Amino acid sequence: MNIYPRIKKQDKEIYAAIMGEEKREAEGLELIPSENYVSRAVKEAMASSLTNKYSEGYPGKRYYGGQEFTDQVETIAIERAKKLFKAKYANVQPLGGANANIAMYFALLEPGDTVLGMDLSHGGHLTHGHPVTYLTKIFNFQRYKMKNVETGEIDYDDMRRIAKKIKPKIILAGFSAYPRELDYKKFVSIAREVGAVSVMDIAHIAGLIAGKAAKNPFDYGFDVMTTTTHKTLRGPRGGMILVREDEEIAKKINKAVFPGFQGGPHMHQIAAKAVSFGEALRPSFKIYAKQIIANTKAMEKVFKKQKARMLTGGSDNHLILLDVWTSFGISGGEAETLLDRAGITLNKNAIADDTRKPMDPSGIRFGTPAMTTRGFKTKEAARVAEIMIEVLTKRDDATVKRAKQEIKKLALSHPIPESFV
Ligand SMILES: *Cc1c(COP(=O)(O)O)cnc(C)c1O
Repeated sequence: MNIYPRIKKQDKEIYAAIMGEEKREAEGLELIPSENYVSRAVKEAMASSLTNKYSEGYPGKRYYGGQEFTDQVETIAIERAKKLFKAKYANVQPLGGANANIAMYFALLEPGDTVLGMDLSHGGHLTHGHPVTYLTKIFNFQRYKMKNVETGEIDYDDMRRIAKKIKPKIILAGFSAYPRELDYKKFVSIAREVGAVSVMDIAHIAGLIAGKAAKNPFDYGFDVMTTTTHKTLRGPRGGMILVREDEEIAKKINKAVFPGFQGGPHMHQIAAKAVSFGEALRPSFKIYAKQIIANTKAMEKVFKKQKARMLTGGSDNHLILLDVWTSFGISGGEAETLLDRAGITLNKNAIADDTRKPMDPSGIRFGTPAMTTRGFKTKEAARVAEIMIEVLTKRDDATVKRAKQEIKKLALSHPIPESFV
């Protein structure tokens, strides 16, 4: 079935690139923990006429006319988001996770104010104050770290000490490369002690929270959560900001998203968010979220048996950080390239206090959300880990070629599903 007949007819170059990507996704194995496959229903919403409409403002309060259907779409998206995450307020307009974080900072901070967030080499995200971002020209970012990189325990005493000294306006939890649950109660109590707003960036684990396979930070008193919608949550590429109950904070966030930071919302994307939230509200999504973690555990077991060094000793969520430099004597970059040749896509990643350069660090990061969407169970996940070990230890052309054949077979026997309902 050709599902892009008009692009094929009218624009051969883009058609070829799209078909190339479809083939790559079908035949390869996606282990990047921030990626996933959306349903065709989500794609249909993104391809809809809603992309034609300007809807600056919020439902019932728009700058332009003709909003009867966009208001319906955004209201449904908001209501579903609130239900999924037990939030009193939701803003579904941020175009991505970075946009959500920037708007959140603009809402809660004045220029020069301080944010206390997770050290980047310990798992934090670029938007949590990496020097390459313009955010660091506006706000002052300070960091807390893990106390013990072998267990993943955060140094909460140090965090409290720093917080008392620097008086941050925001205490920021959340990560893109940390495989454990955080002690949310401690974050909230430290934030309350110093009068900071507590914010959790759930970009990576939103699907685990929505599927009740991970704790919901709102149950522990967090004030705000920012997120992407396209990672474990399995929606369209986008962002969102959730507020537990504080109306003043919610008002500030709405103002900061629009008109403070963004222009017209992308209504086709908001419709797709609503469709994916509808999918995540179904009982089957809980099974999906649980299976993500079971599959990570199955991979963890194989690497443990091999005595490979995993940061924090393993994983409680959807991702694993593997120190390939210590475990296999190769750099993260070399490991990424080798596995790529075997049809396994993942990324090199700095490990805590890495002594190697960021462009070629000591670790790799990988996870199970995408393979789980394809229907991989613990048996297949464990086999993938075994193949990875084989490639990383032997590294010769014959091994890589054999691995590529097996990976392709595994992938093709688990086609990317069109629907989750
Ligand atoms: C992915 C991620 C983001 C950024 O999301 P984009 O949609 O790429 O802008 C922000 N915070 C965390 C923790 C992330 O993992």
